Amino acid sequence: MPLRTTSTLLHHLPHHLLFAASLCAFSIGCGKEETAVVPQPKPKPPSRVSDTDLQKYKPNETGAIMVLMYHRIETDEPDNDLNRKPASFRKDLKLLRDGGYHPVTALELVTNTMEVPIGKTPVVITFDDALPSQFKIITGRDGKPHIDPNCAAGIMETFHTEFPEWPTKATFFVLPKAGRNGEPFGQAGMAAMKFEYLAKKGYEIANHTATHDNLRGASSEKIQSELASAVRAIKQISPSAGMQTLALPYGKLPREDSAQKYLISGSSGGITYANKAVFLAAWRPILSPVTRNDKKFSEGGTFSVFNPYRLERIKADAREAKLPGTFEYWLKYFQKNPTSRYVSDGMKDVVAVPASSESAVDVVRLKMQGKRLQVYGGGDGASGGGAGGDLSVE
Ligand SMILES: [Zn+2]
Repeated sequence: MPLRTTSTLLHHLPHHLLFAASLCAFSIGCGKEETAVVPQPKPKPPSRVSDTDLQKYKPNETGAIMVLMYHRIETDEPDNDLNRKPASFRKDLKLLRDGGYHPVTALELVTNTMEVPIGKTPVVITFDDALPSQFKIITGRDGKPHIDPNCAAGIMETFHTEFPEWPTKATFFVLPKAGRNGEPFGQAGMAAMKFEYLAKKGYEIANHTATHDNLRGASSEKIQSELASAVRAIKQISPSAGMQTLALPYGKLPREDSAQKYLISGSSGGITYANKAVFLAAWRPILSPVTRNDKKFSEGGTFSVFNPYRLERIKADAREAKLPGTFEYWLKYFQKNPTSRYVSDGMKDVVAVPASSESAVDVVRLKMQGKRLQVYGGGDGASGGGAGGDLSVE
């Protein structure tokens, strides 16, 4: 296919080719990563980050990760806590890429299956409520349907075309048509096509309940009914929708501890569900999925500990750029404090950690994820502070 800009592509491709083109772009990105990252099944010494790479990139896979929360991407509304103008969202992507970030999905984060190039920091972009401005189909001048270049999906596709190493990855916490909710993404009869597109491109489709009711005072029955019927309704639209993570409406956890376990798993009306993580709407970056989740470790509290059942998210809101809690604030924070952010070692089966951060690692969690720890730069005299002093725990 000849090289064209995405907006050209989106405007001129016949509808049936739109998805073929998407698939094509997706498989190219994937193929590259697979050859670079997946180890061959032949006898081999354990993977290990080279001393040169340790010194050059200073990986730290215990560091903090931002999970960003977006709602509307509307042109006609100023930037605020629930809206980001298309131009501002484009700028966010640019700032992230320029700042050395790399997108992953919420599911990849919580299962620690992120594929992040060496030296880069993962970031999760999330969208709530399946709103129209997140994914809009428009009729082009050719009379055929195309993705609106100003909706979130269109902006991310264009960005990926411009910067192919930035994959089309984000998590959509969607709502089915139920209660007060309209059609997912707002256009009648188009939800299946949109979900299919998102899944093929590598986006995650995830649970945000069925009716968006506040679960604060919800009974265990109500919680199970909300989550199971959302799974049923969304999978009816698109069987490939993952629905393996959950964002709570209004960020509200159920008040009763006994009810909270039903956020993780349960069943209702013959449908069983299981969530690998629950996301709130709070204000802090979260620590890496290999880090400890205990009271002692949470002291200090700059970042949220990695408790997969209450993970915090960050909103973009320029009006509060100076307050902890916004994307604007944390972006600057990590510029000033680069050692506190997660920096990838580029290897899927290795967790490279500077000796000064070794105590943050939860070794049991790391083993369950099938990872190997590589500690480097210890000041124990063995290495003189260099990378040669790494210790490994099998
Ligand atoms: Zn919501």
